[in-house]
Amino acid sequence: MATIFTKIINGEIPSYKVAEDDKHYAFLDINPVAPGHTLVVPKKEVDYIFKLDDQELAELNIFAKRVAKAMEKAMPCKRIGVTVIGLEVPHAHIHLIPINQESDMYFNKGKLTLDPKDMADMAAAIAKEFK
Ligand code: 5GP
Repeated sequence: MATIFTKIINGEIPSYKVAEDDKHYAFLDINPVAPGHTLVVPKKEVDYIFKLDDQELAELNIFAKRVAKAMEKAMPCKRIGVTVIGLEVPHAHIHLIPINQESDMYFNKGKLTLDPKDMADMAAAIAKEFK
C-alpha cells in the first residue's frame, strides 16, 4: 500500500508544496515543531533512509541543501536544523527546521497547528527562493 507521503507526492492528499524535482519532493510538515518545518522525501518509496543506496542518499541530501538555502532566504532564522526520525511515517524523509535556538528542534515540546493561510504563505515564500 502506498505511504501517506507517496499519496502526497501523487497529489492524492493535499500538501503545502515547497519544491520538487524528478526524484524528490519537499512540503511543509502538517504539525511543525517550528514555523517553516519542511519534509524532504525521495519519490522512491523506501521505508528507512539508510536503505537508500549511496547515490540516492547523496542526491536526497543535495536536494535538501537546495531546499534549506531557499528556507534561509524565506524564513527569519539563524540556521536550518536537520534531523531524521522516521518512526511515524515509513517513507524516508529529512526534517528541515528553521531554528534560532536548540529548543526549536525539540519534538517532545508539542507540535504546532498553524493557520492554513500562514502555511500557504510560508510554502510560497520558500518555493519562490528555490533554485
Ligand atoms: P517521523 O516519521 O519523522 O517520526 O515523523 C513524520 C512527520 O510527518 C511528523 O513530523 C508529522 O507531523 C508529519 N506528517 C505526518 N503525516 C503528515 C501528512 O499527512 N502531511 C504532512 N504535511 N505531514 C505529515
